[in-house]
Amino acid sequence: MIDIIVIGAGIIGSTVFYELTKQVKNVHLFEKNKESGLEVTGHNSAIVHSGIDPHSNTLKAKYNLMGQAMYEEYAKELETPFKRVGALVVAKDFEECKHLDMLEERAKERHVHVVRYSNQEALSIEPNLNPNIVSVLDMPTTAIVDPTHLSSQAIKKGIINGGEAHFEETIVSIEPTLQYFEVQTNKGVYQARIVVNCAGLYADKMEALVGEATFNLRYRKGEYIVLSPQAPPVADRIIYPVPSPLGKGVLYVPTISGKALVGPNAVDVNDFIERPILDDSVNDMKDKMNQLLSNIPYELEIDRFVGFRPRVDNDDFVIHEHPSVPYFFTLAGIESPGIASAPAIARDITNTMILPGLKSRLLEHK
Ligand SMILES: Cc1cc2nc3c(=O)[nH]c(=O)nc-3n(C[C@H](O)[C@H](O)[C@H](O)COP(=O)(O)OP(=O)(O)OC[C@H]3O[C@@H](n4cnc5c(N)ncnc54)[C@H](O)[C@@H]3O)c2cc1C
Repeated sequence: MIDIIVIGAGIIGSTVFYELTKQVKNVHLFEKNKESGLEVTGHNSAIVHSGIDPHSNTLKAKYNLMGQAMYEEYAKELETPFKRVGALVVAKDFEECKHLDMLEERAKERHVHVVRYSNQEALSIEPNLNPNIVSVLDMPTTAIVDPTHLSSQAIKKGIINGGEAHFEETIVSIEPTLQYFEVQTNKGVYQARIVVNCAGLYADKMEALVGEATFNLRYRKGEYIVLSPQAPPVADRIIYPVPSPLGKGVLYVPTISGKALVGPNAVDVNDFIERPILDDSVNDMKDKMNQLLSNIPYELEIDRFVGFRPRVDNDDFVIHEHPSVPYFFTLAGIESPGIASAPAIARDITNTMILPGLKSRLLEHK
């Protein structure tokens, strides 16, 4: 009998697996792909946000702030790169400055260090900013990581701790019984006391295998332009526009690998099938970026990619035990700031939900 099955080797499942293996030996991770981090975790901006963006009293705010505080140490523990490059939110006009005022206020409430700069001050630290911008908010704690590397390191270390990882093994059915779950994959049948569903874009389908689905996922696509590592950097920091209701907007992002990203856009879609990225949407992103930052060497574009954000109606993370199927835990709707939040979510739910659940399951059937 397996103690805990974790479904999905994205950054969420991998870090949950790692945290669990620190305290329980008999933990198994199942991933349908041949490697970790090939889905949402491998297709995003890879930013450890400062924590001032999510609305107050949300799981996104709670875990982003906790994650930001613990990330540097966590990255050391996992031997994965972490770089505190900082970020600027750029206001193009006086109306947008009101949003910077609000973010500044929120940063104060959340004890996040930020600095407000005028146009002149901002241009002196990032000379390629568009000279017409009005003001910026500097968020020096913002960092970048490589979420795919982080996930594979978490799994490696989880295996060293005694856990087991199964790749190219897809969960196809889960039958709850009184004492355990009977979990069927494309390769075999397993019995587990606890199941933790971290299936990303498929998390609603996994929950529906055991009982009534408590949420439906929707998808928001985000496309990117990738610039060669040979492209001269046009900014040292991440450059954000003032966010809109659709999200953080089109950014300029230096990455750990030395490539720079321009993107993502945000388009609600009915599925997560990858389609070619059209020049029209690339041109639209370039137009948006040009309002913030000049001299981007688009001729050194080497790639384009798309990521899909799994979303739920209230725009927050879903982290719960199924209301009518005890011991089945779901972590879903983990869109941004999921990378920034992952270590905090993993550590917190391990200690407050999953391990107490395992203890109670073992006591019930002593
Ligand atoms: C465009 C975009 C930009 C973003 N930018 C940022 C950012 O800058 N900062 C930030 O903090 N967050 C960002 N995010 C959010 C972040 O990428 C996600 O929160 C995070 O990657 C979610 O990880 P996950 O483990 O939940 O999902 P995934 O990485 O999708 O992992 C789920 C895994 O489950 C596996 N799986 C599914 N079904 C099964 C099954 N039946 N059997 C076995 N395995 C299964 C899948 O193969 C997959 O590997 C962004 C997201 C997008 C799309």
